[in-house]
Parts: sequence; C-alpha cells; structure tokens
Amino acid sequence: MGYPLNGWKNKGGTSDRNAPGGSWKQYWQKNTNGQKWPEYCCVEGCYEKATDGAHMYCPSVDRREWIIPTCHFHNMQKGSELTLKNSTPSPLISANVR
Ligand SMILES: [Zn+2]
Repeated sequence: MGYPLNGWKNKGGTSDRNAPGGSWKQYWQKNTNGQKWPEYCCVEGCYEKATDGAHMYCPSVDRREWIIPTCHFHNMQKGSELTLKNSTPSPLISANVR
C-alpha cells in the first residue's frame, strides 16, 4: 500500500468530524468500488470486529490521513503507535473529503 505496516497513529479527536453522508464506514465503502469491509480490526493482534473507520496516519512517511477499519477500542485509542495487519485493504482511502 506504499506505507510501512508499523508506526501508525490514530489522529484522535476526529469523532466530532462528521462523515459525509453517514458513517466513515459508509464513506469508505462508497470510495473503494465495492471492496469488502474487513470483518476484523486492521490493527495487528486485534481480533475484534471492525466497526469503525479510524482516522490514522503514518508519521514516518507523511501526515496524510487515511480511513482504517478498526474496532471501536482502536478507533478511540490516541497517541500510541499501532501496527497494521498486512491484510489491511489497499489502496487506502483518504480521509480528506473533497
Ligand atoms: Zn482493534
């Protein structure tokens, strides 16, 4: 996907930022041309259901934000570095709504 799997951070504080036309999950699905939303959280070692679209970025590369399917816990977890599964859907969907 053009990014390393490790060193991701949750942007945090974006829960007040509304997804265009529904949820961030719906936004993701609309922008992936029918790609399947993963059943489980994309954070390595986590086997909770992917219920949320987290705003994440990889600071070692750039500050661009992407929608990553995660469980609610990881969507709320701010600051700590997270590693993504190599099954994370690619290409990534940008969180910058145009
Ligand atoms: Zn998780």
